[in-house]
Amino acid sequence: MEKKRYRSFNSYLRELFQERVQRVPLDAGLGCPHRKSLVEGGCIYCGPFGSGTGKSFQSLTISQQMREGIQAVKKRYRAAYVIAYFQSYTNTNASISLLRSLIDEAVSFEEVVGLFVSTRPDCLNKEVIELLCEYKGRYLTWLELGLQSIHEETLRLINRGHGLGEFEEGFMLARSYNLPVCTHIIMGLPNETEEMMLGTVEYLAKIKTDGIKIHNLYVLEGTRLWEMLKDGLYQPLDQETYVDLVIKALELLPPDTVIMRLTGDPPPKTLFEPRWASQKGKTLQKIEYALKSLDTYQGKRWKK
Ligand code: SF4
Repeated sequence: MEKKRYRSFNSYLRELFQERVQRVPLDAGLGCPHRKSLVEGGCIYCGPFGSGTGKSFQSLTISQQMREGIQAVKKRYRAAYVIAYFQSYTNTNASISLLRSLIDEAVSFEEVVGLFVSTRPDCLNKEVIELLCEYKGRYLTWLELGLQSIHEETLRLINRGHGLGEFEEGFMLARSYNLPVCTHIIMGLPNETEEMMLGTVEYLAKIKTDGIKIHNLYVLEGTRLWEMLKDGLYQPLDQETYVDLVIKALELLPPDTVIMRLTGDPPPKTLFEPRWASQKGKTLQKIEYALKSLDTYQGKRWKK
C-alpha cells in the first residue's frame, strides 16, 4: 500500500466518518470589515469575492447554496456527508443573532456533519467562540483563521490590517474553548524570503495549529497587487519553487496537523499571474511526486 506522506483533510475526515465528506462553500454576504473598496481597503491581493464563491452576489440564500452544493458534491464525489463551510470574506462580521440564524439554516440539512467558519483574527470575541461551541457536540466544528505571515513588515505591506498579536489572541481564545483552529498562510508574499516563509510554518508548528491551509499567492486583475506587479514591484513564485517550499513546510509540521489545503484556487476569469496557479491538480501531483522521490514526509524535520 502507498505510504501516506501527509495527513490530508480527506483522510482525516475518513478517519472520523468512514465515508467521503465534502465541504459546501458558502457566501453569507457578510463582507469584510477591512475592505471598503478594492482600491482603498483590504488586503492587497483580495479579489471582488473575498476568496469565495460570490454566491451572495447572485442573491442566493444559504439554503439555496446548501441545496446546490449538496447536489454537486453528491454527483461529483459521491459524498455521503457534507460540511457547511462559511468561506467568503469575514464570516463573523455580524451580530450573534444573525450568525446563529445563518448557521442554523446551513446545518438544517440532514447530510451536514460539520461546520467550518472562516474569519479574520481581529473579528473574533468570546461570544462568537461560545456560539460556535454550541454546535461542537453535534457537528465537527472548526474555526479557520487567516494569518498569512508572522512577519509584521509583511503584514503591513500586504495591508492585512492586523498583526501577529491579534492572531495569537484569537487563536488562544479558541484554544481555551477547545475549538480546533485551521490557520491560513500564504507562500510568495512580497519581499518574503524562504527563511521568512518557513519561519511562519515553524511558528505554527510550535503553537500546534490543529490544521493548516497553505496557499500560493496569485495576482488577480484589479487588485493592488496587480498594480505592484505591473510596476515591477512584485514577482510571483514559479511552480517549482512553490512545490519545494510546500515540501519543506510539510517536513516542519507535526505529523498530526491536518493539511487542509496545499494550493490556492484562483478564479480563472480574473487570474493574471502566475498562470500555473490555475493548474491546481498539476501542482498537487508535483507535490506528491516530490514527496515520493525525496522519500520525505510531514513531520520529518519537526522539532518537538
Ligand atoms: S481579510 Fe479576507 S476578505 Fe478581508 S480584505 Fe483580506 S482577503 Fe479580503
